[in-house]
Amino acid sequence: MSINIKVYKEIIKELKEKNVQLVAVSKTKPVEDIKQLYDLGQRDFGENYVQELVDKQPKLPNDIRWHFIGHLQSNKVKFIIPFVHLIHGVDSLKLLKEINKQATKHHREVDCLLQVHIAEEETKFGFDEETLMAINSSELNELGNIRVRGLMGMASFSEDENKVRTEYKNLKALFDKFSQLQTTNHKPQTLSMGMSGDYKIAIEEGSTMVRVGSLIFGERNYNMPM
Ligand SMILES: *Cc1c(COP(=O)(O)O)cnc(C)c1O
Repeated sequence: MSINIKVYKEIIKELKEKNVQLVAVSKTKPVEDIKQLYDLGQRDFGENYVQELVDKQPKLPNDIRWHFIGHLQSNKVKFIIPFVHLIHGVDSLKLLKEINKQATKHHREVDCLLQVHIAEEETKFGFDEETLMAINSSELNELGNIRVRGLMGMASFSEDENKVRTEYKNLKALFDKFSQLQTTNHKPQTLSMGMSGDYKIAIEEGSTMVRVGSLIFGERNYNMPM
């Protein structure tokens, strides 16, 4: 298996024109594939599983910016804090506090995105709108070692383009409200939305960062030994 270089170059070109960042999602893919993409200039990579990320990170170049995009459990925060670049899926204040605690221990300031539940599907994680908007700056300012950089969301896994578009539109509207919250530490300006199947729609609706995996790395086989 190897990466799809042609598709990668097309995506990069398209995103550059639109000033959108690419996180290449490498979950389940071997370090050789990541290295191949790295050699083409890619530096931002996304992983979903703590153990997998912790295994891969020391085997790859130090200037890779690792994005944690999966569902993060509080008891696993400590394993990624020493090196993680951006945590996309923060879905509770409790988790934010744990990240702050571990970041303090490691003398780091860690960038986070808050995940918002925008899909109809119950299976997806994230804050609902009310809870998100209730978070206030004094609460956040107590967390001196994290920086809230913006929001992340996942649309429904659906063939219905209008449904996906509406969900992204709603997230963008929420982001515009949320990003008025500006404090010394927290300057939300990143909106992480869009995956292989829907990144074009997400960009049309205002995404600033897309997370693309299978288009670049090929389909995932979850039974493959990592
Ligand atoms: C796996 C994953 C992606 C990438 O999915 P593709 O459809 O392969 O592009 C993006 N975001 C999250 C949160 C993921 O878990």
